[in-house]
Amino acid sequence: LEKTIRRARRAQQNLAVISLDLDRFKEVNEILGQFCGDQLLILLAERLSHILDDPSSLARPGGDEFSLILKNIEDSDTLPTFIKSVEDALKNPFVVAEIPVTVQASIGAALYPQHGETADILLKNTELAMYNAKETKRGHAIYDAEMGHGSPRQLLLASKLSEAITNEKIDVVYQPKINARNGEINGAEALARWHDSELGRITPDEFIPIAEQTGSIRELTYQILKKAMRQAEQWHQNGNPLSISVNLSAQVLNDAQLLDNVRAILASTSIPGNSLTLEVTETTMMVNAERSLVVLSKLAALDVKISIDDFGTGYSSLAYLKRLPATEIKIDKSFVLDMIDNTSDATIVQATINLAHNLGLKVVAEGVSSLEIRSELNRLGCDYLQGFHISKALTTDKFQEFIHSWSQPLDIK
Ligand code: C2E
Ligand code: CA
Ligand code: CA
Repeated sequence: LEKTIRRARRAQQNLAVISLDLDRFKEVNEILGQFCGDQLLILLAERLSHILDDPSSLARPGGDEFSLILKNIEDSDTLPTFIKSVEDALKNPFVVAEIPVTVQASIGAALYPQHGETADILLKNTELAMYNAKETKRGHAIYDAEMGHGSPRQLLLASKLSEAITNEKIDVVYQPKINARNGEINGAEALARWHDSELGRITPDEFIPIAEQTGSIRELTYQILKKAMRQAEQWHQNGNPLSISVNLSAQVLNDAQLLDNVRAILASTSIPGNSLTLEVTETTMMVNAERSLVVLSKLAALDVKISIDDFGTGYSSLAYLKRLPATEIKIDKSFVLDMIDNTSDATIVQATINLAHNLGLKVVAEGVSSLEIRSELNRLGCDYLQGFHISKALTTDKFQEFIHSWSQPLDIK
């Protein structure tokens, strides 16, 4: 790159440096094996070299990361057009071991000389753009001076969050889950809520990833587990034997303390282990697929139930699903919200319900936001429903009111 930059300086030309990083390549390796992973990288390198006129412009600095240099940038359209051609080159699946594999990548780009005059600075800025593309899930980003400042909000949130967790300032709310057939309240999902006195309400979609990055997700999850179990115990004592679901991130599933902590929490309450459901996404399980199986089996041995969360958004194989000690599949709301208008979403929902039932699993649909969706899910044989049409997540007091006011409308067709 340094040589190319020197040449461009002499010829007074513009350059672009592009970093391409595969999203979730680790999963491809875990699921299909290292050999297929390597094959995929070779095929990808071939496609990339086809769209560059000079093979020396392609390098692979790290495992699933590629760098590309685009020379002779003529006008402001050249780079976006090139990025588009890289994205197009990834569109068709790569066939490895006769299996078509679709890959997604995050692309970051920076221009010489505008965004840096040395190779080091250019590469650093390309990476920043690439991380920005990953974070925003936009797929690609061109460097912008704003990105250099390391997102002050994120830094602020990270420090405030760790303080809030230490002081147990994160609240837990409970979203009801009902039995689709008779409308009875069956349980609730515990969801984290954070209100900061200066910043106001921060959504879990923003602070959970920060807790995951800083490692404080463990402490947070154990706090939530304790609070949620205490809450469930109260419901049981008041004559409502509801189950409680708690979300587990990858770091928690892989935490050496998890089993001991769950055991201790169960021992400290009077309700049975099967009142607790742990929700784990497919993606979380795939971070370390074999280990996940072992840990989940040990949890299941404590009588705790396992739910496969956000089902449909990851890509675990059927063979893997069959080996999981899961009791339930939770269809992701992205399919449910739109299932009335979008036939392919409706097909996915229907297929998932049938698949789950064939594997002997119960099905929960989240994102049940209208009566129409509820009726349709009922018709398709879904077991449990959760969503704004039934109720949003509620504080303990409001949940109590909900229990009292919830009549079981059996007028579902
Ligand atoms: P999730 O596990 O998929 O949780 C369901 C999310 O869908 C909740 O958002 C809930 O409020 C929302 N939802 C439920 N019904 C509907 C509906 O009908 N329409 C729409 N539009 N949304 C609905 P929330 O509470 O904002 O949580 C977002 C995500 O944050 C969760 O997604 C989960 O991934 C994460 N999260 C929340 N609390 C925790 C936690 O304690 N631990 C971990 N690891 N993650 C958590
Ligand atoms: Ca969940
Ligand atoms: Ca979800």
